[in-house]
Amino acid sequence: MDIPRIFNITESAHRIHNPFTPEKLATLGAALRLETGTRVLDLGSGSGEMLCTWARDYGVMGTGIDMSQLFTEQAKLRAAELGVADKVKFIHGDATGYVSDEKVGVAACVGATWIGGGVAGTIELLARSLRTGGIILIGEPYWRQLPPTENIAKECLAHSVSDFLILPELLASFGRLGYDVVEMVLANQDGWDRYEAAKWLTMHRWLEANPGDDLAKDVRAKLTSEPERHAAYTREYLGWGVFALMPR
Ligand code: SAH
Repeated sequence: MDIPRIFNITESAHRIHNPFTPEKLATLGAALRLETGTRVLDLGSGSGEMLCTWARDYGVMGTGIDMSQLFTEQAKLRAAELGVADKVKFIHGDATGYVSDEKVGVAACVGATWIGGGVAGTIELLARSLRTGGIILIGEPYWRQLPPTENIAKECLAHSVSDFLILPELLASFGRLGYDVVEMVLANQDGWDRYEAAKWLTMHRWLEANPGDDLAKDVRAKLTSEPERHAAYTREYLGWGVFALMPR
């Protein structure tokens, strides 16, 4: 079981697999006023940077589940490196339908809401692991500017304009699901560059090391087209943020 190999190639050097920088991740942890010993569940935990740094900085305990074997291995190494291997656990697996045995103070899905079939389904899934008074975290894109055409949405790697909302509408949608938005930290264009541009160096080096690989042609084509596509579309049209929710 694994995610499509192309992601394990292009994001192999990422610690954070979304447009957040380490500073934004720390800002979010501080904004949530995390208490030592708080249990955190993270569905689609990637390389574990959120759980590992929050365990180090705020003393949380956590479990992350991720379908990428590579990212999960990297998460375990990171936990050891930061000296928090006794506080965080990383499970390689499909997080679809995952509910924790013990209720948690923070239930998160940061940039992987397809796990619950979309934002609403993911909130419903996370709520099943949440203790009374706990916080749900959703990391999700939104439109900085509404794409004027469907083609522009596709260039942002969305299927359609309707995949995402503009920020006020996304915030309103949480209210309609019965949740207060109690905090939010938004990425910015520099953060998008960290996420997207970091893939380019990784791809270049991977191509040098793997010229005969089955995916070499695809990676070559991506590396050639991605900088322009990112600058023209994702960077201009897509926002991204993590939203903290509590039931009303
Ligand atoms: N939250 C992490 C990773 C976001 S990228 C971070 O912010 O760094 C999306 C992640 O979802 C990837 O790590 C991918 O491997 C994982 N993923 C995709 N489908 C999944 C599934 N069904 N179950 C668990 N993880 C999944």
